[in-house]
Amino acid sequence: MTLATPDASIDGMSPDCDLLVRNGIVVPMERDRHWLTGDVVVRDGRIAEILPSGADKITARRVLDASGAVVLPGFIQSHVHVVQSLLRHQADGLELLDWLERRTLPYEAALDGDGVATAAELGIAELLTGGTTTVLDFGTTHDHGRVFESAEKMGIRMTSGRTHMDMGSSTAAALIEDADASLADAEGIGGRWHGQAGGRLRYAVAPRFALSCTRGLLEGCARLAREHGWLLHSHASENTDEVAAVRAATGMSNIEYLDAVGLTGPDVVLAHGVHLDSAEIQLLVDTRTRICHCPGANLKLGSGIADIPGLRSRGVPVGLGADGPPCNNRLSAFYEMSLAATLHSLRSGPTALGAWDAMALATRDGARVLHLADVIGTLTPGKAADITVVSLDGWSMIPGDDPVARVVHGGSAADVRHVLVDGRPVVVDGRLTTVDPNALRTRIDECWRATRRRMEHR
Ligand SMILES: [Zn+2]
Repeated sequence: MTLATPDASIDGMSPDCDLLVRNGIVVPMERDRHWLTGDVVVRDGRIAEILPSGADKITARRVLDASGAVVLPGFIQSHVHVVQSLLRHQADGLELLDWLERRTLPYEAALDGDGVATAAELGIAELLTGGTTTVLDFGTTHDHGRVFESAEKMGIRMTSGRTHMDMGSSTAAALIEDADASLADAEGIGGRWHGQAGGRLRYAVAPRFALSCTRGLLEGCARLAREHGWLLHSHASENTDEVAAVRAATGMSNIEYLDAVGLTGPDVVLAHGVHLDSAEIQLLVDTRTRICHCPGANLKLGSGIADIPGLRSRGVPVGLGADGPPCNNRLSAFYEMSLAATLHSLRSGPTALGAWDAMALATRDGARVLHLADVIGTLTPGKAADITVVSLDGWSMIPGDDPVARVVHGGSAADVRHVLVDGRPVVVDGRLTTVDPNALRTRIDECWRATRRRMEHR
């Protein structure tokens, strides 16, 4: 079935628009429980208008068929680690601190530049084919320019930064750096990449977490980000052992400590926020700090259930993310939305966070978390044409009326038909258009073998 068809130059006339996403159930996500059947018109990489069925037919250079499918804003994941993708399925059955010390840090230390690039491409391939068009991404300590090169080539919208760590155990020795040198490296990478690809790529300063950085480094990260107007991105309060270790080291709760070093504020995105006391929640509210909910990773590592309905009701901006491939083990917005829309029933009842709330976390709320609400997050004329088309053909999607309930509770990455970023079709009929998938699979296999050999010989 070929769904991408030229429709241009009828009678030699120039077409009315660049691209038409035709005849889908369009869910703009500007408000809940609103959808219409029609066409999304794309011009110059932006959404020009949404035409309901029966409107005058217009011509397009290219048409993507969305019949029998839902047309949504491209999904936004506010916390992922594409660089960890080669460790997928190799770090199971561990709690957070063991997971980090025994598997993840040795893996990151063993990656070479080609490993960084290939891991990033694996992660981005999975994200794009799963309908995720935007991520806030967390790097390792070296070769981070290779992640941006991969993102530029493959067409995803990415805010990303190399991580920082200047203390830790012997297993992390190869990743521990001089604080000033690591900040200088971040400044160089951010200066090179922030704003590139028409603004699709942005830099975020990313200290790993309170336990891997000296106070001076955390303060330096905050200073660097604010000098340049870059976001800050870190982890906080994922696990009870981590929270206890921060208190033992600093005499403060985790969020109190981050606040003391400058790592709270509207420009700060903290992944997890599972174990927070009432004073910490008040600090998040007062400082307008953002939280990224990572239910799949929190379940797999046995970390706990974040009180997301409670944080949202207090006005804390919350996004959704898969975290890293070794702690999930997938980078699927569908899986995270399904978990978000079911997990909170255990603690807060079945109406606490429904399908439309989960879809909001992965679209308009995620855009707010990343300070991109003027650009993406809803299908609104004038915004970037970041669009995900999800087929409703699957058995788990029928029958039903509410298209968002069907996608959140019945959909999967395999149901994604087309994906656009800035109006560019990066996935058509479920296939990546920006890299050769078979060549990428070969490189993934070679790079994982080489990385594993280096891990074994350390
Ligand atoms: Zn993470």
